[in-house]
Amino acid sequence: MTDTLREPAQAGAEEPTAQAGPRVSVTPPGALAAGAGDGLASVRPGEALAAAVRDVLDGLAAGAARRGGPVPAETPEALAARVARTLAETRGEEALGRLTELLAYGAADPADPACAAHLHCPPLAVAVAADLAVSALNPSLDSWDQAPAATELETLLLRELAGLAGYPGTAAGVLTSGGTESNVMGLMLARDRVLERVTGEPVQLRGLSGRVRPRIFASAAAHFSVRRAAALLGLGEDAVVAVPVDRELRMDPAALDRALREAARRGEPPVAVVATAGTTDTGAIDPLPACAALAAEHGAWLHVDAAYGGGALLSDRLAPLLAGVELADSISLDWHKLGWQPAAAGVFLVRREETYASLARRAAYLNPADDEEAGYPSLLGRSLRTTRRADAFKIAVTLRTLGRDGLGRLVDACHDLARAGAAAVRAHSRLELHTEPVLTAFLFRYLPRDPGRADEVNAALRRRLLREGLAVVGRTELPADHASGTGGGRVRLKLTLLNPHTTAVEVERLVRLVASAGEAEEAGLS
Ligand SMILES: *Cc1c(COP(=O)(O)O)cnc(C)c1O
Repeated sequence: MTDTLREPAQAGAEEPTAQAGPRVSVTPPGALAAGAGDGLASVRPGEALAAAVRDVLDGLAAGAARRGGPVPAETPEALAARVARTLAETRGEEALGRLTELLAYGAADPADPACAAHLHCPPLAVAVAADLAVSALNPSLDSWDQAPAATELETLLLRELAGLAGYPGTAAGVLTSGGTESNVMGLMLARDRVLERVTGEPVQLRGLSGRVRPRIFASAAAHFSVRRAAALLGLGEDAVVAVPVDRELRMDPAALDRALREAARRGEPPVAVVATAGTTDTGAIDPLPACAALAAEHGAWLHVDAAYGGGALLSDRLAPLLAGVELADSISLDWHKLGWQPAAAGVFLVRREETYASLARRAAYLNPADDEEAGYPSLLGRSLRTTRRADAFKIAVTLRTLGRDGLGRLVDACHDLARAGAAAVRAHSRLELHTEPVLTAFLFRYLPRDPGRADEVNAALRRRLLREGLAVVGRTELPADHASGTGGGRVRLKLTLLNPHTTAVEVERLVRLVASAGEAEEAGLS
């Protein structure tokens, strides 16, 4: 620290014990409009943050009021032009307020009861505020000397989350950007462990041998990130065997058994079984104990993708659905889904810390061995990332504020809303429910008078609701062999209820709104 960076001390302005640190503007003097000073751009957030946060809160309120619904009633072209215009026009200290208003106006707002398409939750105020503290302090979890308390806090939080999943004290884990990264990690550790056992060579050092054809077994309804992880890991997407599912989109354990035996017969090592606990579309939970038994029998790693369904662990009512998750070698959990955290709040857990071995790295500038021996812990070897935000903090604050019980009540409220929505669909003559909700989501569709137009009308009615700014409803397609029902067709609409403050009446209104949009679409109204 050079003295030229220090402002002259102002007599009496500081408490005698306060450390008068440097107030360094991140922009050269004169670069900001007169009057801005080094306020908004100060690198000491404490000084300017309160005023900036007021601008943000005002911008959020103004933008939401201008939007007046779950999504702006504009075409993508009109919205793109508005964004470009506002960016071009905005300069200086009004940028934060104006662009926040633009962002809020142009948001698909998960806090609106009619925004119910995706696993996209309205974050808790306490979690957003905790995340602000993290942004202000900017700890980085790749070395203790960038994050002393945050390092310990993440370690303790992971122990708590491992306990919630039923893991023993040998568990370890890390915060991730989400299920996608967690799935890559689970499959990477599986690849390294299983293939080293099969080939005697450490894959992380030598790479893959062309002689082996490793296989990953995941249900046909597993998340697409499983295939992409296989591609990334050098196994190729074709290494993923799609195991058939039942009508509720749960993996068929008899089919898994057959697929594993078939691979064994061909000499293809089974690297991993991926069981999904809460599929993205229907919340279906694969039979975890059966998957665990079959994985163990064939020497495969069991990875449970509980990115969505992991939230059930918070609820006494729904936790039994996840019985067997504790048998997994690794688990993906997403607290930015059923956990009401701002993204990112992914969690990756392994049952046994030693299975992390292939990811461990020694970087002289981050975690020298003598520092670790002297008691300075390092989380570097836990993550694929180097610089890493303290995403554990907001989860720790949330768990302390609401407790598991408080969060469980939010999960149950969303489960109740999904059941109310499904009942409203069943009661409507022009709507067809696919299956009862397992967690907080369900699939359904509008039945046009001409069944041959079902896919086209359902796809179009969803865009109509978006265009009119009335609702954000999900859309997906069923696997071909489960698209039975009146007149065939694979397109289904989806409601994912993640806002515990929504009421059953609001969900019923949303269901009727979908039916009206279907009627308008069928009638060819523009
Ligand atoms: C959401 C989801 C993912 C992907 O998680 P991200 O947090 O979006 O990366 C993976 N698997 C399942 C089952 C999911 O629902």
